[in-house]
Amino acid sequence: MSKRDYYEVLGVPKNASEDEIKKAYRKLAMKYHPDRNQGDAGKAAEERFKEAKEAYEMLSDARKRSAYDQFGHAGVDPNMRGPGGPGAEGFGGFAEAFGDIFGDMFGQSGRGRAGGRQVYRGSDLSYAMEVTLEEAARGKDAQIRIPSWESCETCHGSGAKPGTSAKTCGTCSGSGTVQMRQGFFSVQQTCPHCRGSGKIIPEPCSTCQGQGKVKKQKTLEVKIPAGIDDGMRIRSTGNGEPGTNGGPPGDLYIEIRLKKHDIFERDGDDLHCQVPVSFITAALGGEIDVPTLDGKAAIDIPEGTQAGKQFRLRGKGIKGVRASYPGDLYCHIAVETPVKLTEHQRKLLRELDESLKKGGARHSPSGESWTDRLKSFFS
Ligand SMILES: [Zn+2]
Ligand SMILES: [Zn+2]
Repeated sequence: MSKRDYYEVLGVPKNASEDEIKKAYRKLAMKYHPDRNQGDAGKAAEERFKEAKEAYEMLSDARKRSAYDQFGHAGVDPNMRGPGGPGAEGFGGFAEAFGDIFGDMFGQSGRGRAGGRQVYRGSDLSYAMEVTLEEAARGKDAQIRIPSWESCETCHGSGAKPGTSAKTCGTCSGSGTVQMRQGFFSVQQTCPHCRGSGKIIPEPCSTCQGQGKVKKQKTLEVKIPAGIDDGMRIRSTGNGEPGTNGGPPGDLYIEIRLKKHDIFERDGDDLHCQVPVSFITAALGGEIDVPTLDGKAAIDIPEGTQAGKQFRLRGKGIKGVRASYPGDLYCHIAVETPVKLTEHQRKLLRELDESLKKGGARHSPSGESWTDRLKSFFS
């Protein structure tokens, strides 16, 4: 059964305002309301009433109306409900069938119509920016070069060779859209001939190849906030690609890539670093210098410090973008084995070894439990 056009049902033009639609519906609802129509005539009236109600429900919802304008009944068919969730009612099945067109038209905000032509928001651009750990911690003012489009000077943006002009597209008569049959549906699509602009340029401007705009570079000042981390994105509104047929531009996303640091490893707002300590200092204890982002700091390590022991320097990490307090710095002790020993040093170590052996397990903090574990492992 073929469905009547919703605009026809309500008796309003395609460009009717919300108010006009509402008024038309009220009039019909009064006329065909079941309470006012009895008997056989009532049956027909009831059908009319339902039809008007459905048409009003679809056309009074901007999103549904837009889908209906694009795709006709197929765009808003309640039987084609998909997994789109609330608001996406009736779009799901259709979205799957027409993924690409659909994504273009509904996936992005800012889409609309200008004089009946398809208006698209420009694409978003992304820009990868490498920052050092110090820059990430303190923030920085950066300048980046990004592509920008300017109106072509040769043709003043018309896209037509000087002395010639654009003509109305014959395929779509300037509307920018054409009716296409897709399986069962009659679908309104962007005109493939003029790509929705409604115009054809017989002699394109040679500077811009008929685009009306030329790609240039521009410098953009970007504020990198202190505390920014790897993978975070900064949005620069309106600095993406320009829209089509007067649509709004997309946005530019600056994605932060943190450079590897020689000393520190970042984990959220905390920093970690490996601090080499001689085994003598580890055994005797003492003050050692450790690096922080603000310069050197000294920490006291106690006598008998073992390899892998961590010392935390509170607040010496990074203050995250949204954090109230900075993170901590963890210094991991890496006990060093001395190398390239002289004969004399070897002798001293052998003497030390003899002396330690006489003391037995008490000089070896993990010795006893290690011996026990080995015993049970081999038994
Ligand atoms: Zn066209
Ligand atoms: Zn040009």
